[in-house]
Amino acid sequence: MSSACVVGAGVFGASISRELALRGWEVTLVEQYAPGNVRSASGGDTRLLRFAHGGVDWYADLAWRARSLWIDLQAETGTRIWEPVGVAWFAQRDDGFEARSRPALDRLGAAYEWLAPEDARSLYPSFSTDGLAAVLLENDAGVLRARAATQLLVEDAARRGVRVEGGRVTPDAAPGADVVVWACGPWLAGLFPEHVELKTTRRDVFFFGGDATWQGRPGFCEYDAPYYGHGDIAGLGVKVAPDVPGDEVDPDTIDRLPLPARERDARAYAARRFPALADAPVVGGRVCQYDLSVDTHFIVDRHPERPDWWLVGGSSGHGFKHGPALGEYVADCVAGARERESFHALGERFGDAGLRTASIG
Ligand SMILES: Cc1cc2nc3c(=O)[nH]c(=O)nc-3n(C[C@H](O)[C@H](O)[C@H](O)COP(=O)(O)OP(=O)(O)OC[C@H]3O[C@@H](n4cnc5c(N)ncnc54)[C@H](O)[C@@H]3O)c2cc1C
Repeated sequence: MSSACVVGAGVFGASISRELALRGWEVTLVEQYAPGNVRSASGGDTRLLRFAHGGVDWYADLAWRARSLWIDLQAETGTRIWEPVGVAWFAQRDDGFEARSRPALDRLGAAYEWLAPEDARSLYPSFSTDGLAAVLLENDAGVLRARAATQLLVEDAARRGVRVEGGRVTPDAAPGADVVVWACGPWLAGLFPEHVELKTTRRDVFFFGGDATWQGRPGFCEYDAPYYGHGDIAGLGVKVAPDVPGDEVDPDTIDRLPLPARERDARAYAARRFPALADAPVVGGRVCQYDLSVDTHFIVDRHPERPDWWLVGGSSGHGFKHGPALGEYVADCVAGARERESFHALGERFGDAGLRTASIG
């Protein structure tokens, strides 16, 4: 039996370790804090799962596969992690990112509606469509309860034989397994500075206190604003997050109190798009970070000098949704069943994963 050590129990490492165990590998998963800790991006409360990716089909396909795997995990464990509320894209143009996403949705057979702004007003209890050309409603999309889902993946991995250990692993004292997968999020660049280039930038997220009518409302993205969020999920409140570049941060030491300036931005957006929330109280806030690769494509590649080591990260603010499907892809690469994609290689990068953060992150 082959053995693997996976370093990092974020959604990537948890998914990879579970997938390798499902394939009969002897697996150890090592995490420096707790699985789903709030210093990791996977420790956020919620994450959107959508298929629209502009014209970049690879991630649309991966998200589509991941949706089935998340739903299976929920069904097998009886633990609620998936909110099938849909995701609405507020399109300021009818030939932008949203329109470019439609061919992939058609090909996948993902349910969606292309709505005139006046026909989208009932999506939210209070919704101003000023400045919108259309609304793309992805009916099959939704919201994952991220921290709970990450912890569930780790629990399920343990049930399937993965040994879960606490501790910080370094390349100098690397574990002795046939394969080591370093799935370390923003920490990857510090562990392998000569091979991995990442920008770790701050993102502030706010929850506003709406009334009961905000429950079960869709997620939303306004790509050209840029803001995203969702209706009330699990009593957290209505999420409104500015998707603007923040300062570079150290994920170990940053104080995670949201900035008043970002709160003002989120409130101004909420007041403009969802007028009923103009005076709603802030009922929660989180500070997290993106680990941005230079082109927002993920990194999945062998270490140039240690072919038994795989470096996985650079999720660039869009990785969560893909977790279990990314686990399948990496397990295939590790087992030699497929090649990693050229746009995930270490070294010079030229691509564009089609993200709003690509040009501004
Ligand atoms: C505010 C915000 C909103 C987002 N919204 C979305 C969204 O709507 N949809 C979406 O799909 N994605 C979203 N993302 C992105 C998504 O959360 C990340 O892409 C994903 O969680 C990254 O997972 P990861 O496993 O690569 O990294 P992480 O979650 O950071 O996990 C890495 C883990 O490795 C551990 N580790 C690191 N180094 C070591 C070491 N040396 N030894 C042991 N353990 C180690 C860390 O402690 C950590 O637990 C968002 C991110 C943020 C910050």
